[in-house]
Amino acid sequence: MFATSHKISLAALLFGTLSATLPGASLASHRWGNYHWARTSNPFTLKLGNNLSGAWKSDPRQPNQSYLGTASSDWSMSSVLDTTIVTSITDPSSCKPTSGRVEVCNADYGNNGWLGIAQIWARGSHITQGVTKMNDTYFNTQSYNTPAWRQMVLCQEIGHTLGLDHQDENFYNPNLGTCMDYTSNPSGLPSNEHPNAHDYVQLETIYGNHLDKTGTVNQSVNQAAPALPEAANAARQLGTAQWGKLIKSTNQGRTERYELDLGDGHKLFTFVIWAD
Ligand SMILES: [Zn+2]
Ligand SMILES: [Zn+2]
Repeated sequence: MFATSHKISLAALLFGTLSATLPGASLASHRWGNYHWARTSNPFTLKLGNNLSGAWKSDPRQPNQSYLGTASSDWSMSSVLDTTIVTSITDPSSCKPTSGRVEVCNADYGNNGWLGIAQIWARGSHITQGVTKMNDTYFNTQSYNTPAWRQMVLCQEIGHTLGLDHQDENFYNPNLGTCMDYTSNPSGLPSNEHPNAHDYVQLETIYGNHLDKTGTVNQSVNQAAPALPEAANAARQLGTAQWGKLIKSTNQGRTERYELDLGDGHKLFTFVIWAD
């Protein structure tokens, strides 16, 4: 059906599935601010650094397919952006950010409580770089060591780096069929392992309203982002103490967002999903 173009027809999806999958839910916006990658045209392409190893490299349900490959093609179905997977250039245990792209990492980050995080640097409203980290300390436990949990969290953390927030933050209501919906059962049904039509509509809203004179995306020396202050480097460390102020907390603190002011208009946002 998408043989010639893998771009989703939003109108078809919107009216075809949204009303069916969101009974009673409002079509509320689920962006997390006015944050977006600066780019000079649409669709733009965002590089995802592949720093994944071990069980993250292939989905046993579909050999030859990686979780990141699935997430990348899922998000690329958006009409306004594409993602492309590029070679690792950072040690996953530090998952150092790279200007103009998103690093996707897994490692044994320890018993710090978090299952996955997304960290996004922005200057003004423009995203300048991002990292996503999957914590094997918890993914290797019985509760989370499933393909569905891996796919959902990976998809969601990348979604945050595009400017998307959660569609729903209740772990125990029916799945909305999107990775941007919290659940205690990611495989569903419906599965919460992929974006849904509402996510693509939201991306169109975020990236449809203006273009920028210069891009922050894919700039190896990012003109929009001068060298980050020392605090930004400190914030790459693992503790909540370095993530700045807690600006949102739901599910009795199980899901949180932090904001750290880095000065000169730079901010670092950290989205956390804590392990149960
Ligand atoms: Zn802009
Ligand atoms: Zn999240």
